[in-house]
Amino acid sequence: MIHSTRSFKDSEIRQDPITGKWVVLATARAKKPEDFNKGEKNKEIIPDYKQDCPFCNQEKYPQRPTTLDLPNSEDWRVRVFPNKYPAFIEKDSIAERQEGLYRAIEGVGFHEVVVGRDHNGYSYRASNTDLMYFYKALRDRYLYFTKQPTVNYVQVIENHLQGAGASLEHVHGQIFALPIVPTDEVLDLLDGAEKYYQKNKHCGYCDIIQFEKRENTRVIFENDLFILLAPFAPRVSYEQWILPKEHHSGFERLTDLELPQLVEVVKRATEGLNKGFNDPAYNMYLYSSPCDDTGSYYPQDQYAHFHWQIHIIPRMQMSAGFEMATGVEISTTLPEQDAEYLRKQF
Ligand SMILES: [Zn+2]
Ligand SMILES: [Zn+2]
Repeated sequence: MIHSTRSFKDSEIRQDPITGKWVVLATARAKKPEDFNKGEKNKEIIPDYKQDCPFCNQEKYPQRPTTLDLPNSEDWRVRVFPNKYPAFIEKDSIAERQEGLYRAIEGVGFHEVVVGRDHNGYSYRASNTDLMYFYKALRDRYLYFTKQPTVNYVQVIENHLQGAGASLEHVHGQIFALPIVPTDEVLDLLDGAEKYYQKNKHCGYCDIIQFEKRENTRVIFENDLFILLAPFAPRVSYEQWILPKEHHSGFERLTDLELPQLVEVVKRATEGLNKGFNDPAYNMYLYSSPCDDTGSYYPQDQYAHFHWQIHIIPRMQMSAGFEMATGVEISTTLPEQDAEYLRKQF
């Protein structure tokens, strides 16, 4: 039984057209924006420099040797270095071992930290120039990692504030270069995109962009090159996606000329959350096609159907037993209303 309606009253189970994942939008339990667990009301003003911060005071807390300084090593605004406590170890080859029916491979890869000069310089507070250096650094290091023979997938993330798992207050991004292509989230996206492509003969995300532009209910902001939208089947309330309008499977293909427009959209997304919810914690994930030996540097690019993207996930609701048990998230707002609220912040 298929009805055409704006949305079902009180509870609607929506499906992501690419991954096939279900989410529950239980609006009978509706919350108003002001009922969300927001950033602290009278948060102290966070300074640009803190004596006891390991990223601010790199004389006192030496980091591992820098891999990139932008714009240069003297007047750097963004600096990249290997994580002091890395999740992956740099090596030229990957060893494997078998233990009965179990299999393990050595945790070979890279784990770098991208920091700005100012303690509280990133997300909505950063200047456009600094944010440009930030994304340029991510892109340049991303490109470097994709060319390493031990690397099959690169994950870029930013954990904003402790509520999103950030261990340091100093705003920073992290790049993980892995020897494997992760299952779950990443594989769902890749497999879903491939299946959609095979069935429809075009990219699902390009279709989403076209449809969302026409509907214009979930679009929060757009410029010539990027679109910011509230996804139809969000994992959490006020989730935002940034999609490049032109189809590209890999983030590494982002050019310097396109950076200012990406920065404009990122800023809009983070500033919307700040204005609407007083700087809540959030996670930023960048999804791009794998760089294994069938990836975008090879003639038979098996991920050409994928469309790189950024997800911004505010951490204002808690996953509980039902979500953990089923993988199905329950939210209490509709993305159409989320988009309207986030648009209104400007
Ligand atoms: Zn700092
Ligand atoms: Zn596409």
